[in-house]
Amino acid sequence: MQAEISPQQGQELLALLIDNKLPDERGRYGPFGGCYAPETLVPALRRLAEAVDKYLHDDDFMARLQQQLHTWVGRPTPLTPALGLGKRWGAEVYLKREDLAHTGAHKINNALGQALLAREMGAKRVIAETGAGQHGVASAAACARVGIPCTVYMGAVDIQRQAPNVDRMYQLGAEVVAVESGDKTLRAAIDEAFRNWVADPHGSYYLLGSAVGPHPYPYLVQRLQAVIGTEAREQMLAQTGALADVAVACVGGGSNAIGLFHPLLADAETELLGIEAGGHGPALGDNSATLATGKPGVLHGSYSVLLYDDDGQIQETHSVSAGLDYPGVGPEHSLLKSIGRVNYQSATDAEALDALQECCAAEGILPALESAHALAGARRWAKANPGKRILIGLSGRGDKDMPTLSQHIPARIGAAAGGGA
Ligand SMILES: *Cc1c(COP(=O)(O)O)cnc(C)c1O
Repeated sequence: MQAEISPQQGQELLALLIDNKLPDERGRYGPFGGCYAPETLVPALRRLAEAVDKYLHDDDFMARLQQQLHTWVGRPTPLTPALGLGKRWGAEVYLKREDLAHTGAHKINNALGQALLAREMGAKRVIAETGAGQHGVASAAACARVGIPCTVYMGAVDIQRQAPNVDRMYQLGAEVVAVESGDKTLRAAIDEAFRNWVADPHGSYYLLGSAVGPHPYPYLVQRLQAVIGTEAREQMLAQTGALADVAVACVGGGSNAIGLFHPLLADAETELLGIEAGGHGPALGDNSATLATGKPGVLHGSYSVLLYDDDGQIQETHSVSAGLDYPGVGPEHSLLKSIGRVNYQSATDAEALDALQECCAAEGILPALESAHALAGARRWAKANPGKRILIGLSGRGDKDMPTLSQHIPARIGAAAGGGA
């Protein structure tokens, strides 16, 4: 399965991707993807794949989704010319503002679409997993809007680290369940969510938060996030009369990046650049740069690139941004890397923190730490390619990162000058 993809096969696979003819009927993106799920879940996944086929081609369903995206999420999100960053970098910079979507990030596009799908499929309850809490908040909000009870599985360690998001989920009506097994973080929460789905595959719907997991999730999430790239492409043409020379996005599981990239795959003049979390540096365990340093394998139901050690143990990962801290990546990204259509690099914690501060100062926008990785990668690209037009996916806002930021960048508060002379 690890056989090299020849340049000609690569061209053929890219053409299929552009025509939305991948994944194939086995859920494969070339060698990647598929459906490695326990026997008990296979019927539920098959039912989901049928529903995805049906509803994503149903004008009525898509019109209702569109209406909610417009009136509740706040789409289309703006495309903002970043004149301050452009001046500093010697480039023309545009930010696709997912930070302005309801609940503060792109994750709501996916959560809303899947919550509507769950209701169509007659689910009585939605199950979701969350690491940093952002997907849990988006799921809680979308389920409240759609009118389905929502249970969010979250590692006990993450519950402690992300207390404000736990409160938000609770206020939005979700039940939050602490997962005490395994590493007590996202990986264990996903395992627990799958276990609960197995127990009631008809009554419950599993709302997966990124472009990962068994077929049809990577495809479903890509279709729901492609609104980012579709809007950005139209907005670039309307505002500048041309497409970008490069489009840049951060990559955790890969949902905001695939949402931006997929509608641009056919635009050969637009280079695509995915930025992973380089953490403290390149050693295994010090980062979450899956595509940069990982190897192929199976995790959470899909064959893709992963971080694991010589004994095959999945590696603990590190990133200053909780949303990028995942040892896997979606199968479509693994294919796009193999065929060379997307270039993947990483940005370290320090580079991301620096880019975040620069964006605050130059644009008056506090980006999420995840998004700051895209900014850092874009800045590096701009220095190497002067005078170009750069589109950056700003996946979310940074308010949620304030506790982390205060640790790394303590506020300097000036004292008032006392008395007169
Ligand atoms: C969750 C998150 C990410 C990473 O997830 P992807 O699936 O890779 O997009 C990136 N940015 C923000 C703001 C997030 O909340």
